[in-house]
Amino acid sequence: MKVFQTSDKGFCFGVRRSIDIALETIKAAKVPVYTYGPIIHNPQVVKKLEEQGIASIESLEGVKPGKLILRSHGAPPSAIREAEKLGFSVVDAVCPFVRRAQNHAKKLYKEKYKVIIIGEQEHPEVKGILGHAGMGTQVINHSTSIEELPDFKKLGIVAQTTLPVQRFVEVISKLLPKAEEVLVYNTLCKNVILRQQHTAKLAKSVDVMIVIGGKNSANTRRLAELAKQEGCKTHHIETYKDLEPNWFKDKSRVGVTSGASTPDWIIEEIVKTIKSYRGGRNEKR
Ligand code: SF4
Repeated sequence: MKVFQTSDKGFCFGVRRSIDIALETIKAAKVPVYTYGPIIHNPQVVKKLEEQGIASIESLEGVKPGKLILRSHGAPPSAIREAEKLGFSVVDAVCPFVRRAQNHAKKLYKEKYKVIIIGEQEHPEVKGILGHAGMGTQVINHSTSIEELPDFKKLGIVAQTTLPVQRFVEVISKLLPKAEEVLVYNTLCKNVILRQQHTAKLAKSVDVMIVIGGKNSANTRRLAELAKQEGCKTHHIETYKDLEPNWFKDKSRVGVTSGASTPDWIIEEIVKTIKSYRGGRNEKR
């Protein structure tokens, strides 16, 4: 049984940067250190950081002020202002590509565009971008009926960084007839696009695909969907403990890919375990 991996594996630049900032912060801190929500969408990494003293909090209520790290997904300005008012010192670990999307949304709003964010309404990144744009900004997700939207004078569009390219193009083409002037900022993350392309390509050439990453990670879930769309039997897992030897029975080619918030050590453990199987039984090669 051969195991093939996509070339772009492990943390992306933005996630690596956020983790490094969190680790530097705890090293130097003399006060409690928190992240505002999980720093990335990977429960195993969040747990490891917790063990090092970095607690993930969802609300500031009743929390002793200390250093508050803004995660890679960002946060709305109102949340940052509230934290500072309560005496927290804010540490910026927002991915620069997410920051770019926030800045574009803010600029569009100032220039009197009706701002549209294409993405998942409940995703923290989208909430953060929404907070940086102004009143009347609208999020368009898979269930929005675009045809029913009214016409606008000026439309300004940004997207969640992990949105699939096809979805971006599809929504923009539907929005085009809605306004005389449409300004689109391409806020998609190149790293995510490449992972999606490489995953789809690999899924075409293997018998089974293993997609590694948090079940709460939108970009990892999307990789699993893409692999399935290629007709490949696909399993989305978080750690080697989720593997089942029977998935590999009579399979000769196994593909492995991972989301942008999956650490190398989890990938290595999984690949090692898969390689220890033979014919679906847990045998050493
Ligand atoms: S996937 Fe892209 S946008 Fe998201 S954190 Fe990584 S580099 Fe930044």
